[in-house]
Amino acid sequence: MSESNCPCGQGNYAHCCQPLHLGQAKAHTAEQLMRSRYSAFAKHEIDYIVKTTALGQQQALDVAAIRDWSKANHWLKLEVVQAQEKLDKHHAQVEFKAHYHDGQQAQVHHEISHFVKHEGAWYFLDPTTTMNITMKQPCICGSGKKFKQCCAQYL
Ligand code: ZN
Repeated sequence: MSESNCPCGQGNYAHCCQPLHLGQAKAHTAEQLMRSRYSAFAKHEIDYIVKTTALGQQQALDVAAIRDWSKANHWLKLEVVQAQEKLDKHHAQVEFKAHYHDGQQAQVHHEISHFVKHEGAWYFLDPTTTMNITMKQPCICGSGKKFKQCCAQYL
């Protein structure tokens, strides 16, 4: 694979995920955001990983651990198994397999991820972050709805 190929497998990096990483373009779909996040792991674009996580979760992220994970592995290939872009008006689901080599052997990370759209941009809902939020508080995505009636259903 040449350096110009996008890690997500959809063509030339400069015309695929790089404009998203540089903040020059936005993901139009949850699948595109998911692809760009995979590419960001491969390219060690850690700020992008943080910025595309749900607004209310960003400060709870362990950025050092994300950076270590990004750099510790060799990112081989992304396979999007299926994408449901409209679970409801603002939520989507993407099932994928991330293939990587951990230095000893090839690994496959199979995940079903959820995403939320807020003010025209897609964000990843991270099920691993610790959230000090009650069901009645405003949602982590910024929607202004109660957490219970918004993203809690997908976390
Ligand atoms: Zn929400």
